[in-house]
Amino acid sequence: MFTVGLTGGIGSGKSAVAQLFRERGITVVDADQAAREAVLPGSPALAEICAHFGAAVLNDDGSMNRAWLRDAVFADPEQRQWLEALLHPAIAVLIDEALNSATSPYAILESPLLLETSQHALVDRVLVVDVSEATQVARAVRRDGSDEAQIRAIMDAQISRHVRLGRADDIIDNDGPLTALEPAVAALHQRYLALAAQHAGQ
Ligand code: ADP
Repeated sequence: MFTVGLTGGIGSGKSAVAQLFRERGITVVDADQAAREAVLPGSPALAEICAHFGAAVLNDDGSMNRAWLRDAVFADPEQRQWLEALLHPAIAVLIDEALNSATSPYAILESPLLLETSQHALVDRVLVVDVSEATQVARAVRRDGSDEAQIRAIMDAQISRHVRLGRADDIIDNDGPLTALEPAVAALHQRYLALAAQHAGQ
């Protein structure tokens, strides 16, 4: 399956772009959803996390206590590494399964961490949604009701705009109005259909 990785910083417009591809019948696999599925009650990953950190990592209903775990690894790089070494492959397996069952001519993997994790190895091409930092902060603050400092802290933990753009095969400039996304996606869709046909013929 010819797969395009869709990424961008927080508030850049990934979800908005993904929605437009979905409307064209393209299967979009959501990496955030895979990350949640990987640690559902009963999953092998959650069992290992529980064995490692103890039952304090579970909520009363058996689900993972994300806030507790975030605090536990926040100041401890070794614990964080242990957790990432467990989670990233488990998430990649779920993503791979979802991509393999896609029925559209090509598929999209929407992921905020496409370039920060091994997920980029699952895609043939990278599409970056790009906005100025000012736009990014304003839209994320409005959407999440967070304050600017919280959004900037998340941005600081992500790769820089410059590095992200350097790894893009295609770029959507989303500083304009939402209506400008539609023609941008339409043009990319045509390009991806052609590339997918080429890929299938190889
Ligand atoms: P991401 O998924 O990258 O975090 P979203 O797609 O959720 O970003 O977009 C962030 C917020 O900005 C959402 O509330 C979305 O509706 C809004 N948004 C996205 N693109 C535009 C645009 N071109 N003009 C105005 N608002 C936009």
